[in-house]
Amino acid sequence: MAANGVTHALCVSVNLETFPAVLAIAEGFPNIFASAGVHPDDQSGEEPDIDRLVGLADHRKVVAIGETGLDYYRVEGDTEWQRERFRTHIRAARRTGKPLIIHTREAAADTLRIMREEFAAEVGGVMHCFTETAEVARQAMKMNFMISFSGIVTFKNATALKDVAREVPLESMLIETDSPYLAPIPFRGKTNQPAYVRFVAEEIARLKGISTQAVAEATSANFFRLFKGAAGFKG
Ligand SMILES: [Zn+2]
Repeated sequence: MAANGVTHALCVSVNLETFPAVLAIAEGFPNIFASAGVHPDDQSGEEPDIDRLVGLADHRKVVAIGETGLDYYRVEGDTEWQRERFRTHIRAARRTGKPLIIHTREAAADTLRIMREEFAAEVGGVMHCFTETAEVARQAMKMNFMISFSGIVTFKNATALKDVAREVPLESMLIETDSPYLAPIPFRGKTNQPAYVRFVAEEIARLKGISTQAVAEATSANFFRLFKGAAGFKG
């Protein structure tokens, strides 16, 4: 990360079983933060309730709730449990005052509807690894959500997503890797790592016709503005 000019990272929780390992990484490095949550694809682990999430989030390095959301691509059959779990996360976020990390795949309409019904705008957050349309981005931004782009935006065939990246204002944008998945070009197909977020920044800069430095400065400032708990560790 240091060699690539990447100064801070958020290590995102995907289930409760591995949460202690996520927290240990955040505790071990001043520039790494953690979130608390259970991914919509996780069907084997402990199901969190609001109190459980609020309890886990009560830590100085836990700066967000998630990742949560809806994923109708990977899960077959009745998906009501996903929507219930998503509501639980939004309620926990509102109780803690910490922002949400939201994953959505083939479920944009339900995701936005539940965000609205549960008043997710109160805490805001980020639509992570964004692959939806500009209209979905606009609706999320209206609810105080930032749009986060991953290595997908560097892929040659991701023309629609490149257009979305051109449209999303710099002040509402974050960049990420989604490690260990989705390594950006020139590492596509390899194991991803936080240091490679540099290549996402370079592609955003190219798309917007601005410097990589401008993208880096804006997304860093956005990170600390959104994840307020991280601001105290800025130095
Ligand atoms: Zn995700």
